[in-house]
Amino acid sequence: MSPQPRSDVAKQRAEPPPTGGLPARARDWLPGRSDLTAELARFLGVERALLSCSGTAALVAALDALKARAPARRKVIIPAYTCPLVAIAVVHCGLEPILCDLLPDSFDLEPEQLEQLCNNATLAVVPTHFGGHVSDIATAVRIAHAQGAWVIEDAAQALGATIDGHSVGLTGDIGFFSLAVGKGMTLFEGGVLISRDEALLNACGQQLHQQQHPSRWSHKLGGLLWDGRRTAELIAYTLAYRPRLLNWAYAREVRRALAEGDLVAAAGDDFSRQIPLHRVGYLRRRAGSSALQRLPEWLSQCYQQAQQRLPLLRAIDGVTVLSDSPQAPAAQGTWPVVIVLLPNQAIRDWVLHRSWGKGLGTSLMFVHALPDYECYRDIFAAEEGEQAPNARRLAQRMLVISNSPWLDQPRFERLCAMLHRATSEARELPATA
Ligand SMILES: *Cc1c(COP(=O)(O)O)cnc(C)c1O
Repeated sequence: MSPQPRSDVAKQRAEPPPTGGLPARARDWLPGRSDLTAELARFLGVERALLSCSGTAALVAALDALKARAPARRKVIIPAYTCPLVAIAVVHCGLEPILCDLLPDSFDLEPEQLEQLCNNATLAVVPTHFGGHVSDIATAVRIAHAQGAWVIEDAAQALGATIDGHSVGLTGDIGFFSLAVGKGMTLFEGGVLISRDEALLNACGQQLHQQQHPSRWSHKLGGLLWDGRRTAELIAYTLAYRPRLLNWAYAREVRRALAEGDLVAAAGDDFSRQIPLHRVGYLRRRAGSSALQRLPEWLSQCYQQAQQRLPLLRAIDGVTVLSDSPQAPAAQGTWPVVIVLLPNQAIRDWVLHRSWGKGLGTSLMFVHALPDYECYRDIFAAEEGEQAPNARRLAQRMLVISNSPWLDQPRFERLCAMLHRATSEARELPATA
């Protein structure tokens, strides 16, 4: 066989990032004034926002603040399909995660099940905006408040999404965003917490202050080391965020994990149980503040690209494109990724194994519904999954497509052709869902 032309080889080696997160730039590190917290508040249209070292740390602060208000309430209702860190945070706070199913082919909590699960032992309900898509918060608020429970909006993946012109995170009692790699914009790891309830915001602020200013010297030192490590990681990320290097830094690892059949490792779902809690230092706040100036323009560029590409996906028989909840009519989500559902797991896996880490921008968000992870068996019994059939079917059929501009039109069209082939030719494949 003759060797492939050079340009083709080069193309194969370039990897688009799995999401359209805002790229970091070298100039973000130039010295300058910055007040990241105030700038985030302005971006979100709130008076005050709180900065944390991760979305998980923000959730921990929110849960600890609520726990202090209602110590007898020990249960936290979370989606049966969500980031495992959410469950880890609940356990970290000494609380019990309770799984609620989602509506079929939707990210909205199943209202009837939520109503059954919610009672006077419920501390909080955590409805979640996945992939920038706005989900139904109002229903969760109605059900939770009727039982005296609070609503924490998990907007980790939805920085910049709005409901009726207001940022997500303000319909519930507390909202938080993630500034981790691959989310909207990044400090490598970071988080933001907001609330329209001033007293609640203050209580969360006190919790964050305790996280960030521990009294013990060993903890203070530990915090500085974490921030130093994250700063080095953000610098490395700034340097590596180019298509050729991403192949080396990201896709190679994905292909290795997939070759070993380890989807959980490929998706990075094997999280540590230790939640680092520390301050975000000056250098990262400076870099973040510089990057944030580019975010509005970047979000609108991603929105345009998604609008242009959605019709191509919707035209493929068997492909369902997920979007903002119909229960949130005035919502305007963001488009870091395009999330599609395929007819069954066999078809999804066929596409995934031919495309993930191979330059076509596909990946998974989270591999399983929470009870289906071997590594979290101590938190969830496998039987709990049976109570969440919709979340499970969602996890099995979901494919995430990067909406980074680096997934150029030819690659996107190659992926569409693959999806078309999978859904038309592979219909004989056994339905596993
Ligand atoms: C990433 C994520 C989190 C946790 O945020 P970190 O900043 O990574 O700690 C929580 N919930 C969801 C839905 C997420 O995607």
